[in-house]
Amino acid sequence: MFDSLSDKLQRVFKNIRGEGKLTAENMEVALKEIRVALLEADVHFKVVKAFMEGVRTKALGQEVLSSFSPAQQVIKIVRDELITVLGTHTARLRTANQPPTVVMVVGLQGSGKTTSSGKLARYLSKNGHRPLLVSVDVYRPAARQQLAVLAKDLGIPIYEGTPEETKPVDLARSARREAEISGRDMVLVDTAGRLHIDEDLMTELSQLKEALNPTEILFVADAMTGQDAVKSAEEFHKRLGITGVVLTKMDGDARGGAALSIRHITGQPLKFVGTGEKSDALEAFHPDRAASRILG
Ligand code: GDP
Repeated sequence: MFDSLSDKLQRVFKNIRGEGKLTAENMEVALKEIRVALLEADVHFKVVKAFMEGVRTKALGQEVLSSFSPAQQVIKIVRDELITVLGTHTARLRTANQPPTVVMVVGLQGSGKTTSSGKLARYLSKNGHRPLLVSVDVYRPAARQQLAVLAKDLGIPIYEGTPEETKPVDLARSARREAEISGRDMVLVDTAGRLHIDEDLMTELSQLKEALNPTEILFVADAMTGQDAVKSAEEFHKRLGITGVVLTKMDGDARGGAALSIRHITGQPLKFVGTGEKSDALEAFHPDRAASRILG
């Protein structure tokens, strides 16, 4: 996660480590190199712009401590700015005042929605919750089967519906009722995806939102798709109002651009990252730890 960006920034810091003091000239060189490193990591250009403005302002202002070496000063400024971009605090999953809390899991097909729904159920149950899963992908029986298998492996209940329940809204409503009856405090709704954003999908998701009044709408995106993930997140947020993002496949060689861009572009926080195919490969996202990982 973040390896290549981390390597590049390390190189920038190494270059100025030899300098005796931070001058306008060596700062300018470092700033240029940081900008290139961010762009090469596929960070959205608007985020790069905001990032560089933040670094520049801090570097020229009072926040630079003269007792630090130039490299230390730059690292501190970059770290602060990374945290600003990634989110100043850990964004936790919200719960409803009146259980069950409904969490809609949305995203494009193949992004890792179903896998993440299973992972989230496991995560929540490890953290003292009693989740109930439901898949409302009425178009792909295989997707519902996939979630049923996952649920069974994890020992987490799933609402599988009746033959009459052919509509996503009916299935989801019944799942919520089932949760109320059986004392389950969270309902995770794995929704249908499409290969591309289309009108039908958005209409269906809006109807689900209306019917369920979910506390969380988590957008699942594949980190490997870089700025496409950010664009889809932006579109889903515009149409649906997402409340957070789960970025999957962070164990691959994603350059980090999606993770660094999504919060700034959508205004919604990165809440979880997927770090593998197994059900335990999900981490709550902590901006400060991510910043430390990037800075090495
Ligand atoms: P959906 O169509 O959005 O429901 O996607 P799936 O949950 O079926 O996931 C698509 C593929 O991505 C599957 O092969 C998953 O095992 C894989 N996958 C999901 N999350 C991760 C992750 O965090 N890391 C890796 N390496 N693979 C993942």
